[in-house]
Amino acid sequence: MNSSLISKIEKARRYAAEPERAEIQSLEIRFRGDHDIHEVRFANGSWSCDCHSFEALGLGTCSHIMAVERLLGALAPRPADQAEPVR
Ligand SMILES: [Zn+2]
Repeated sequence: MNSSLISKIEKARRYAAEPERAEIQSLEIRFRGDHDIHEVRFANGSWSCDCHSFEALGLGTCSHIMAVERLLGALAPRPADQAEPVR
């Protein structure tokens, strides 16, 4: 393998160990729930979902968004109103 590619792969490994380097700005996910397919989005610092409970509960989240956050792990975008205080 070309040495330049090897050094890129090593750098990628180092970067991937520091998830704070990457920040998801927007996202669209088709989520297959038990009864329906839902469109889960993250845009302009907040989550949304087209399911009934997202609107009805008014909590800014729902089971589909919570599942997507778990799937994304360290990369899950944090809504602007839940940003961690600057240290
Ligand atoms: Zn939902």
